[in-house]
Amino acid sequence: VLALPAAAFMLQEQEAHAAQMERTFIAIKPDGVQRGLISEIVSRFERKGFKLVGIKIIVPPKDFAQKHYHDLKDRPFFNGLCNFLSSGPVLAMVWEGEGVIRYGRKLIGSTDPQNSEPGSIRADLAVVVGRNIIHGSDGLETAKDEIKLWFKPEELVNYTSNAEKWIYG
Ligand code: ADP
Repeated sequence: VLALPAAAFMLQEQEAHAAQMERTFIAIKPDGVQRGLISEIVSRFERKGFKLVGIKIIVPPKDFAQKHYHDLKDRPFFNGLCNFLSSGPVLAMVWEGEGVIRYGRKLIGSTDPQNSEPGSIRADLAVVVGRNIIHGSDGLETAKDEIKLWFKPEELVNYTSNAEKWIYG
């Protein structure tokens, strides 16, 4: 069998990467914004090699916070959580990359900062579960729903970063 020309092989590889591209919704909650942690958190996603495709700062109304956290509506902390999310500016973002949903959650760390792995955002920068500074979608369907809730399609930018060929090969 003749070897594929290098260019065709590279194209196949690029297509394989493109097929695995995902988007996730990441939000810095009001505590993270007020504590001046935006650049610290954004830089961790950026340096990893993920691509920022949407970003805005908003104070979400309470009913919007309730929509975002609707899965938790029966939990005792639901009301306090929604009050908190709508108490100040939230930095809403969409990040793109291979495995960004699952690995984004690793960068963030587990829900309670007391149990988060050292090196993760919540472990390094937060102390209690009710002020854990950041949100990240927990699966493919949630990511789709949350991106749709927070962003209009035209607020998301499709672009090729020159770094991609160095990140993915
Ligand atoms: P995660 O944000 O890690 O996906 P959950 O979806 O379980 O975690 O919870 C959503 C948010 O609710 C958490 O990030 C945290 O801010 C808050 N929360 C979760 N558990 C508690 C709790 N026991 N007390 C207060 N707030 C909580």
